[in-house]
Amino acid sequence: MIRVAQCWDDGVVNDVRVAEICRKYHAKATFNINPGLRKADERVTGWRFRDMFDVCGLSLKEMPEVYKGFQVASHTMHHMNADKGTVEAFVKEAVDARHFIEDTFGQEAPGFAWPCGVTTDATVKALADAGFAYGRTTVNVPQVLPVAEPLRLHSNCHFLNPNFWGAYETAKPCGVFYFWGHSYEMMDDAQLWAGYEEKIARLSADPEVEWIDVVDIVR
Ligand SMILES: [Zn+2]
Repeated sequence: MIRVAQCWDDGVVNDVRVAEICRKYHAKATFNINPGLRKADERVTGWRFRDMFDVCGLSLKEMPEVYKGFQVASHTMHHMNADKGTVEAFVKEAVDARHFIEDTFGQEAPGFAWPCGVTTDATVKALADAGFAYGRTTVNVPQVLPVAEPLRLHSNCHFLNPNFWGAYETAKPCGVFYFWGHSYEMMDDAQLWAGYEEKIARLSADPEVEWIDVVDIVR
């Protein structure tokens, strides 16, 4: 048995497609959002990825439908890095996003993903004190269990890691495999989307795999 978790950052339009693929294969996923960067009724184009793909944020209004059946977690209101501003301001950014999720999605939101993977000792402690169950970094480790510091929860690999299946095999002995990414990295590239779907299909077809939410890794 291997428990598998995945998460996706920034609340962008390509998440619609990730969610559809996950539903198709009964895979679980957690989506880490920045509600303060999004508009109520319209999608906003934020920036250009690799000079070729306009990254577009979902509207707040459509999020409950897009993320229905999935876990949603705080990625701060405005994608604030932990080393910017005061610890108090950072905690407010993290907690305000959690409250938005609780109110909007009617679910508990104990999860957190560190914007740009930046952590500081003071903010790690402050988010633990504020009740967050985990904070995902961008550090890759061969095995995520045991979790030494839940507020510095590492993953096994990025979803486009060329050694994805090697990382999966290496992770197996600890019983958890955890990967993450940004759906916009697949742009509208058919091959990248097919590659992602193939991964999800293969994991779901494996009788040894049990999909879990990210928070289940630390619970
Ligand atoms: Zn992010």
